[in-house]
Parts: sequence; structure tokens; C-alpha cells
Amino acid sequence: MAETKKAGALVVVGSVAIDTIETEQGGRATEVLGGAATYFAVAASFFTPVQLVGVVGDDFPKQDLDWFRARGIDLSGLEVRTGRTMRWTGRYHEDMNVRDTLSFEANVFDGYMPTLPAAYCDAPFVFLANIAPALQARVLDQVKSPRLVGADTMNLWIDIARPELEQLLRRVPLLIINDEEARLLSGERNMIRAARKIMALGPTSLMIKRGEYGVLYFSGDTVFSAPAYPLEEVFDPTGAGDTFAGGVMGYLAAAGDASAASVRKAIVYGSVVASFTVEAFSLERLRTLTRDDIERRYREFVSLTSFDVG
Ligand code: AMP
Repeated sequence: MAETKKAGALVVVGSVAIDTIETEQGGRATEVLGGAATYFAVAASFFTPVQLVGVVGDDFPKQDLDWFRARGIDLSGLEVRTGRTMRWTGRYHEDMNVRDTLSFEANVFDGYMPTLPAAYCDAPFVFLANIAPALQARVLDQVKSPRLVGADTMNLWIDIARPELEQLLRRVPLLIINDEEARLLSGERNMIRAARKIMALGPTSLMIKRGEYGVLYFSGDTVFSAPAYPLEEVFDPTGAGDTFAGGVMGYLAAAGDASAASVRKAIVYGSVVASFTVEAFSLERLRTLTRDDIERRYREFVSLTSFDVG
């Protein structure tokens, strides 16, 4: 497709899933749209064209595929295989920073090996959203000379696929993970010490997502901190981290640069999109969200964090 050649194009690989979510407050969403790459792609599509790599089963709702296309998400890298789409069920505790996975079925992801359409191989921006590190590496093998590669992972892979993950991290300049994953990966509770150890594994830049406490960004010797948008109620935190990453990478891809100043703006855009995501179940809030809503909240962030020197 012609649109895949655009300079701002962004390739993402990761899970595309059907989720069931329960909250302590009695909320439940059954068989709703989910998956790390799904949240990422939709968030990034507010900023730039996205090329989605992954697999779904023949039970995946056609109207969601149509919605992706309408949002400028290219699906020529999304395989539709006979069988069931990945399923995940999670339950949040009263403290919504804590959740349990009640069930996980890889389904069509079992035995899946991504092959990139030729037009994706020149993508300047690449994100390896949460999925087995071997699949992330396989995508990285196929892109020619990306300007920026970012990646995410999760506890499961740190536990069961650490050698593959460590191999991958040597090739990933920007790692975006949450605080719990940072602790598990580094064996350190303190985030500064954790960051130092993780960056010794390869990434030259690291964003640590801390839920309602915001984001810490480490690059070389510099640290940048952004708060989370203060929300009275968090409805469903699922995908907040993935939409954060989608906002970050989407903004950088659209800007076409990854300078220190752009990265700081990108972190705030990521935080803004994530703050909308948690206001409703699944991707529901993103269906009605507009770029104007994003810009308005971005300006609120600026005033939230501005203060005089001295
Ligand atoms: P997050 O809230 O950022 O951890 O992302 C939640 C999304 O991750 C859900 O929509 C799930 O479908 C997806 N997910 C859960 N477990 C896995 C897994 N083992 N591999 C890939 N994606 C997963």
C-alpha cells in the first residue's frame, strides 16, 4: 500500500487479543477488544500512520478491523488464521495498580512467526509491544535501518524467557516498561538503581511507567519526570502502558525526530492518551477521543507542571 511508505510510518508488533476484565468495584467487560499492539496502534494512530504486525483468529470482529483501517492502521501485516484469537482475563484489586491474570490462551499466536510485508521493512520507527521476545526479535531482524526501535515486555517473559529477552535488549535503544517489570528485571527496588542495571543490558534510554505516579525517563546521565494526569476515577487501567507507548512513539514518528526536547513532549503526549484510556473499559474511550481532546489535556499538563525558577 502506498501509505506504508510515508516518512512518519511506525511498525508495531505485539498481541492483538480479546480480553475479559473484572474490577473490585463490580465492573466486568466480557470478550472486549484488547492486546498490547491494539492499544499501541490505536493510540499512535492519533499522530501518524501505523503498520500493525500480528495475528488474529477468524473469530476476531470484522467491525474492529474496519475501525483500525478507518484510523489509518495498515493491516497488511496482520494475519488472519483459522482458529481463536488470543484471550486474556484479568482481575483488578481494589488498589488498581495490582491485578491478577485469571486466564491466558495464546491460541493463534501458538507457532506464529511474523513475516513483514516488504513495504514495512523500511519503516523508520519500530515498536516491539508485549509478546514473546523471540517474536519481537524476528520483527527486528526484518527491518532494514530503523531510526528508533522501542520495546516493552512483561513479567511473564522476564520469568520464562530471560535469555531471549536479554539478547533482544542488546538491540533495543528505548525500553518502555512499568515499575514492577523494572524491579523484576533488575532485582532492585529503587528505580534509579534499577534503571542503571537495566541500561547496562543494552537500552540507552529507558522509560519506567509508574501508573498514577507518572513516568521516569532515563537517557545517558539525564533523568526526566512527568506526572500522571490527576484523575478522580480510574475505570480500567488495562492498556494504559501500551497507549502511553503508542502516544510516545506516534508523536516521535510524526515529528520525525527523537531529540531530547521531542522525547519530553512525546512523554507528555503518551501520558495524555493513557489518561483517557483508563476512563472506560477496553478501548472504548479511544473510539470517541479526538486530537483536540488530546491537545486540550496536553495544555493542562503544561500548567500542571509549570513553576518559576528561583
Ligand atoms: P497492559 O495493561 O499494558 O499490561 O496490557 C494489557 C494487554 O496485554 C491486554 O489487552 C492483554 O490482551 C495483553 N496481554 C496479556 N497477557 C499477555 C501476554 N502473555 N502476551 C501478550 N499480551 C498479553
